[in-house]
Amino acid sequence: MEKLHDYYESLDDEKLQRIAVYEAKDLTSEAVDALIDVLFDRGFNETLINNVHLQRESLSDNDIHHLVGEFATTECPYCGKPGRINAIKVTEVVSFILFTDVQKKVAVGCQECLGQILWKAIDKTSLWGWWGLPSGILETPKALSSNRANFVILNESFETPSDVFIEYVKSNIGYVMNYLSYKH
Ligand SMILES: [Zn+2]
Repeated sequence: MEKLHDYYESLDDEKLQRIAVYEAKDLTSEAVDALIDVLFDRGFNETLINNVHLQRESLSDNDIHHLVGEFATTECPYCGKPGRINAIKVTEVVSFILFTDVQKKVAVGCQECLGQILWKAIDKTSLWGWWGLPSGILETPKALSSNRANFVILNESFETPSDVFIEYVKSNIGYVMNYLSYKH
């Protein structure tokens, strides 16, 4: 306990906050007690400390559903426009002869920003994906078709949180709760 306390005490505020928001759910209960002590001493607000506790409880499907709904109607992280956000998985392939790099990332944002991100990935992949042997030739069409499938989400069901969005909320529960509670 002492050691854990000393460890958290040795971290700067930013690192402590990151642990509280992103890692609290994976800590042992001794570590959580020590973390909360240090957060309290440093004068962090109650919301953050409450969120540490909340992340430790297992959330019901109903709680998740509620969080998803609330987070989906927040402002876009890219352009700041209020309204509705959703998430898609974007794939980019860039090749250079024997080297092919496939990057998959989750993008969360409004319809307009996600559309731009998606087109950028499609353009980049169509231009630079093919030039690798053999992976570029195999990966590029796969990436292009999975990127194109995202237009269904963007154009036809943007109002419904996508599976990628729900997964994003579930795996970033601390961040989402913290974000929503600061907005209130
Ligand atoms: Zn936007």
